[in-house]
Amino acid sequence: MGALGDRIRIHTGDITKLAVDAIVNAANSSLLGGGGVDGAIHRAAGPELVAECRMLHGCKTGDAKLTKGYRLPARYVIHTVGPVWQGGGKGEAELLASCYRRSLEIALGHNCRTVAFPAISTGIYRFPKDKATGIAVDTVTDFLQQDPLLETVTFCCFDEQVAELYRHAVAVLGEG
Ligand code: ADP
Repeated sequence: MGALGDRIRIHTGDITKLAVDAIVNAANSSLLGGGGVDGAIHRAAGPELVAECRMLHGCKTGDAKLTKGYRLPARYVIHTVGPVWQGGGKGEAELLASCYRRSLEIALGHNCRTVAFPAISTGIYRFPKDKATGIAVDTVTDFLQQDPLLETVTFCCFDEQVAELYRHAVAVLGEG
């Protein structure tokens, strides 16, 4: 097992291109597809993905469910449902942390060693990006420290601004 810093990767690009054991989808509670990263994942995986999702009967906010990756380079897709930002007083931070934890628990349950996350809830769901990236890094770090079987976690960002927020969150780890 490498040092903690080597096990966290920050990547700018399209998550559907990543050849990891599992990519995480920022889905909605129907699991039947949507816009943003969800739409991109369904387009790249092909129609078999929504067919498998139909059999899952949705997913609660803060929870996650696994499917195969079909035409994606990733073996699995873990669909998690982030909270819609409503000002911060509705348990949004806890629910977002739960998305990261549940996704990693499920990944490990399927022997995944490499997992990539998009910046859950920071698009259509309007979670403030600085807060969301801080929660993502803190939650994933706690998990990595407890679980030596998980090799690397990639934070996949669509734009450089979010990548910079992740770099900052990693840099201040341990200072707070
Ligand atoms: P949510 O509904 O959870 O807010 P979105 O898909 O709207 O989900 O946005 C989540 C994040 O994913 C945003 O930061 C957005 O820029 C990013 N994103 C969109 N498409 C992709 C993609 N193909 N790969 C990686 N990240 C993406």
